[in-house]
This record gives sequence, structure tokens and C-alpha cells, in this order.
Amino acid sequence: MASPVRHYVGGGFDASGVPFPLVDPVTGSAVGEVPQASREVVDRAVRAAREALRGPWAAWSPAERSRLLHRIADGIERRFEEFVTAECADTGKPRELASTVDIPRAVANFRSYADLLAGRSERSWHTTTPDGRGALNYTVHKPLGVVAVISPWNLPLLLLTWKVAPALATGNTVVAKPSELTPGTACLLAEVMAEAQVPAGVFNLVHGTGADAAGQWLTEHPGVDAIAFTGESSTGTAIMRAAAARLAPVSFELGGKNAGLVFADADLEQAVEGTLRSAFTHSGQVCLCTERVYVQRPVFDEFAAALAAGAKELSGYGPMVSAAHRDKVLGHLARATADGDVLAGGGVPHFGDERDGGFWVEPTVLAGLPEDHPAVRDEIFGPVVHLAPFDTEEEALTLANASPYGLAATVWTGDVSRAHRVAPALDVGIAWVNTWNLRDLRTPFGGVKASGIGREGGDHSLDFFSEPMNVCVKL
Ligand code: NDP
Repeated sequence: MASPVRHYVGGGFDASGVPFPLVDPVTGSAVGEVPQASREVVDRAVRAAREALRGPWAAWSPAERSRLLHRIADGIERRFEEFVTAECADTGKPRELASTVDIPRAVANFRSYADLLAGRSERSWHTTTPDGRGALNYTVHKPLGVVAVISPWNLPLLLLTWKVAPALATGNTVVAKPSELTPGTACLLAEVMAEAQVPAGVFNLVHGTGADAAGQWLTEHPGVDAIAFTGESSTGTAIMRAAAARLAPVSFELGGKNAGLVFADADLEQAVEGTLRSAFTHSGQVCLCTERVYVQRPVFDEFAAALAAGAKELSGYGPMVSAAHRDKVLGHLARATADGDVLAGGGVPHFGDERDGGFWVEPTVLAGLPEDHPAVRDEIFGPVVHLAPFDTEEEALTLANASPYGLAATVWTGDVSRAHRVAPALDVGIAWVNTWNLRDLRTPFGGVKASGIGREGGDHSLDFFSEPMNVCVKL
């Protein structure tokens, strides 16, 4: 039996608030309730986080914080199966995916920042710079203060911990608000924080929706010093407006409309297998998923036939997270299937069991739509990929870059020179060559244009979550 969904404020659990239903995306049935945090709960969480900043936490050394992050990672590992079950229950994703990606990555998020901190003695973290002019300069890295972490429903624990871990590593306190659709693993994380003896108020969790509710109240709260957000670009705009009122720093990981470029010199089998993964992992509900694939004309037909055949054979995929999201994806499909060619999927699968009440969409391969069609232009965030041909490298780059988004791209080619020419010319934060979603957590992660502001990962996150201050002493 899963634990009830509760807020975690100042080291105590609290289930107050008007409840709204939690729905199983696999079957569409209500399976629980989420309490909507009141303004009072949000205020209390921010106050607890602020008080904790003035408590013993402020004196913890990097080494102590490093050990704490390892204890949290140990706690997640100890309850691994519970975390997998909770993540699958909320998102409907296959157990295989949660147990090989989501939960291990959450553990790795804490361990990688723990290791980064352990590698920094107090001295190197507080660098000294004698300037040779009779003065000593040194830099002190201070926490930002109270950080609001607001995260989406697609990779709930992975994306929450991706920000909570570096925020704690740098000595901040946190008020987290996960998506109201997927609160389960965040609740388990709060229990792990308590078990790991995270000081009261250092990590707080509130549940609720975004607009005119817990999410918005946090972003507008004068007691919140910085906001780390992952979600849709339009939500990023609303949050930036709220943060602008008091000039609070923001770190944004936003939407994408990621392109794949398949050149005729690529290993086609590898490109097809990689594109199946990049388009359909978690039914396309990953910000890094490929939704547009441009294929060089001589191999277009072969690639399209192989990708469509692969998409038809896919099994063991999960549903859309909610009825509203399913309806958005099906809305795109209704227009796209009327205006273009459907090479695979295009509708709703029928199972003949309770899953027919859930929010399923078939893996879909489209072609023949103009570049300004909504299905080619807008982020769908579902199992839908569109194929279009190109002739020259220049044309491929123009097509890939003609998007308001700029998160990630994938290049499939057997020509090393082309790989190094094309990848850096893409207007994105991350380009993969002959692979997809291969991640080293120390590398800069983020997007350009409407896909984000700032970079996270390794030192980049430590930089965002801390304020370097210079002290100059005349000798
Ligand atoms: P949303 O932007 O709808 O929601 C994200 C979070 O913000 C949720 O917790 C939501 O609450 C909250 N929220 C909504 N409105 C406000 C507001 N006005 N003020 C404060 N908080 C608010 O994104 P989705 O949950 O739909 O997630 C999918 C999106 O996330 C896609 O666009 C995807 O590309 C992007 N994404 C980007 C990634 C990246 O690294 N660049 C990674 C993963 C996803 P609630 O939903 O509970 O109402």
C-alpha cells in the first residue's frame, strides 16, 4: 500500500488541503488523492526553509554536505522497489524504464554532487588570489538562500533530484513542488530526507497545481530567493514574470522540438534503431525526444519504411500521463493525419481490457507535412515523429535550426568531418552524434532560444546555486 500524499514542512508531514483525485494513466481510474497546499502551507514551508538557513545547516562543511547527499542516495537505494512502484503508478511508464533510468539516475544525481563536493576541500572551494599589489583577494561561495524547485510529470524523481541535489550541495534550503499528477516519488524522497537526518526545514515539499496555486505562490513569494524550474516554455514565461518583480535568479529547462538528421552515409540500421529510441522512449514524453527527422533523399524511402516497421512492432510502451495530455496529442494527430501521410500508428490502441480506459496513443510515424504545420512546428510531447527529406548539408541545418526551440539534436553520419561540421552548427544546447541521450552528468545541460535559460550539470549547477563573493584585504 503506497503512503498517502503529504506535504513535508519544517521536518513534519502534513496532509492538509482540499484533495483532488490522483488518476492511474494506464486505466484512467482514480487511485488516490493529492492535497492542494493552501497559501498558509506554502508560507510555512518558505518560513521553515528560511529559518533553517539561520540554523546549524549554515555551518555544515562541504564534506558534511557531501556525506549527507550520499546518505540520501543510500536511502533511495534501500527503498528502490518502492520508488519504482510509485513512479510507475503515477506516470504509467514501464517498470523496465523506471528501474533502469528514473530511479538509478536519481541516486546518481545525489552521488555525483556528493563526489564533486568531496573533491573540493574547504580551501579550493574558497579560492585565494594574492594579487601582488599588497592585497589578498579571496572568493567565498555562498548559498543563494531559499530555492524553489518546480518540476514536471515526465521524469518526476529524476528531474526533481537533478535540482535538489546541487541546491543542497551548495548549502541552500529548498521548497519543492512536483507536478500534481506525479507526487508519489517526491513523497518517498521526503521520507528518505527524514531518515537521512536532513535538518528540519532544509528540504520542504508542497503539493498542488501551478497557476493560481502552490506553484505560482512559490514563484511570487518574497521569501524565495531563486527558482529552478523544468517544464513548458509558456510556464517559464509566467515564472520569469513573477521572478522579475524581485529580480530573483532563474534556471530554466524548457520545451523542445528536437531534430534528427540522417545523412546518406550513416549506418542506417543504427540510425533507425537510435531514432526509434529517441522518438518513442517513454512514449515521446521526454524533453530530449526527437519529433522531427530530416533524412537525406537517397535513403529517405528505405529509412522511412524501416522506421515505420519498427514503430509498428513496438510493444511494452506506456500511456500519456493524463486525459488532458492524451487529448492534446490526439488533437495534433487528427490534423496531421488529415493533412499528411501516416506511415505507422496514428490512433489509439485497443487492448480489450481495463487499459482501454487509459490514456494510450500508438507510436506514430508521419510524413508529407509542410514545415509550418502545427505537428511539425509545435512540441507534441507524445509518440509522434515526422519525417521529411533534404538534399544538402546546408539545407539540413537550415531545416533543423528553423525552430523557436533549441534543446537537443541528433546527427547520424559515417563521415567524421561532417559530424564535426554539423554538430556545432546546430542551434541547440546538446547535440549527439550517432547516439541519443548518452549523458555524463558533469557536462553542461540546457537549451537555447525557447528551450531554456542557463546550464545545469556538474560545476554549472554549483555555479547557479551559489553566489561567489569577493573579499579584498589590504595587507
Ligand atoms: P508544465 O510547465 O505544465 O508544469 C511544470 C511544473 O510547473 C508543474 O509542477 C506545474 O504544476 C508547474 N506550474 C504550472 N504553471 C505554473 C505557474 N504559473 N507558476 C508556477 N508553477 C507552475 O510542464 P509539464 O508538467 O507539462 O511538463 C512537460 C514540459 O516539460 C514539456 O514542455 C517538456 O519539454 C518540458 N521538459 C523540459 C526538460 C528540459 O530539461 N528542458 C525536461 C523535461 C521536461 P502542475 O502541472 O502541477 O499544475
